[in-house]
Amino acid sequence: MTRTVNHWIGGKPAEGASGTFGPVTDPATGEVTTQVAFADRDEVDAAVAAAREASATWGTTSLAQRTAVLFRFRTLLDAHRDEIAALITAEHGKVHSDALGEVARGLEVVELACSIPGQLKGELSTEVSTRVDVASIRQPLGVVAGITPFNFPAMVPMWMFPIAIACGNTFVLKPSEKDPSAAMRVAELLSEAGLPDGVFNVVNGDRTAVDRLLEHPDVAAVSFVGSTPIARHIHTTASAHGKRVQALGGAKNHMLVLPDADLDAAADAAVSAAYGSAGERCMAISAVVAVGSVGDDLVARIKERAGKVRIGPGTDPESEMGPLITAAHRDKVASYVRGAAEDGCEVVLDGTGYTVEGHENGHWIGLSLLDRVPTTAKAYRDEIFGPVLCVLRVDTYEEGVALMNASPFGNGTAIFTRDGGAARRFQLEVQAGMVGVNVPIPVPVGYHSFGGWKDSLFGDHHIYGNDGTHFYTRGKVVTTRWPDPADAPAGVDLGFPRNH
Ligand code: NAD
Repeated sequence: MTRTVNHWIGGKPAEGASGTFGPVTDPATGEVTTQVAFADRDEVDAAVAAAREASATWGTTSLAQRTAVLFRFRTLLDAHRDEIAALITAEHGKVHSDALGEVARGLEVVELACSIPGQLKGELSTEVSTRVDVASIRQPLGVVAGITPFNFPAMVPMWMFPIAIACGNTFVLKPSEKDPSAAMRVAELLSEAGLPDGVFNVVNGDRTAVDRLLEHPDVAAVSFVGSTPIARHIHTTASAHGKRVQALGGAKNHMLVLPDADLDAAADAAVSAAYGSAGERCMAISAVVAVGSVGDDLVARIKERAGKVRIGPGTDPESEMGPLITAAHRDKVASYVRGAAEDGCEVVLDGTGYTVEGHENGHWIGLSLLDRVPTTAKAYRDEIFGPVLCVLRVDTYEEGVALMNASPFGNGTAIFTRDGGAARRFQLEVQAGMVGVNVPIPVPVGYHSFGGWKDSLFGDHHIYGNDGTHFYTRGKVVTTRWPDPADAPAGVDLGFPRNH
């Protein structure tokens, strides 16, 4: 063990007072490099107390001052992209260029937060009744919490806290215990940018920390991103404690390929979106639905490209795909591939048993491609979260869309076609929150919102964009009358007030 990651409370590092720690592993070597503190209830309470204290002044700090801090943070984040990407690679395993992409997409949301005054400017109607004006304003909630997954240790927290803080809330983040260092570095940069102590806090840990946040009376809202079973638990529990909740869950993203599609473009897209980040993306394409005659040709092109993907440590600039997060997860992913033939799939590529020379203890797995996958196969039904692509064959567009819409998940989806009419129909008919037309990973830009349907999101709000501002504020409507001194007194009137 070379390092210890503690918490960040009240603008400074806080010792892991509970004395409980968990291991953080470099997935490329299998070595434990760091120990991360696991917060107990008292430590969570200390973080919430710091956030609550800071909220008294941060919520009334002027928009000019709040955004000035965010502008400075934006500059610092930009200058430290490489360093944060390196922290991500060391603990998550994804290749450096991919980690840089994650930081860039987080930065987009920080930039949106810099422009929050435009989104918070409210509405005013004058003279709605005689000498009566009505204003709608939005105010911060107070202390809000974010609970985030291992697969985007920098970007997903940045989907949340920049908007929350810009809106005048204070924040308690519980990052994934598997790769906590990027979030801690972000906390330091926020402080360097001049964010007042206590506005942004980090508690590390596991379920104990999460469950305390879910029930804490001073936490007004909870944003969660992670797997579907935990998202459901978060939504149910935090709602039962009276909190506003948005809980984004897992996915099984489908890509429909029509016979008229550019097959080279479709095959490139399928390989990039299925195997990028070793498939550990909630927007990964994990099921290609090939329509009509297109299947054989498409599978051949995917196979050819997948065979050339270079696997290795994320620190090696030659590597295109890194290891999986843990050995246990690697073994679970492999079990889906090993059971595929028995479930009726045709195993075109079997990535199990793969190792990288000189890094034999890393959590490696190669690329797997399964064809003619029945919808009953376990590899199709479950979110595998690894480099395993299923191809399903259907005869028609209608059959393809029906198959996709029968999935319990509805995060991202894509259609590959040259037919504008079919693409338009697909946009309207598919049951998913994010749709790509010849775009395999349709992650919305910062000023549109991100979110899925069905078991991919619990709650009413998508994340960031206008939905983010709405989630982190509550509405208030002020009705004002300033009578003219010349007006006759209104007198007592017990009737329900009417506008006139
Ligand atoms: P996870 O659900 O295991 O963990 C997410 C967070 O919840 C972590 O901070 C973890 O410590 C905490 N947690 C885990 N078990 C808990 C429990 N029993 N009670 C309370 N808290 C608990 O997810 P993960 O493995 O870190 O991330 C991968 C999952 O996240 C995948 O399912 C992926 O699809 C999903 N994901 C979804 C999106 C999206 O936008 N929809 C984005 C990224 C990841």
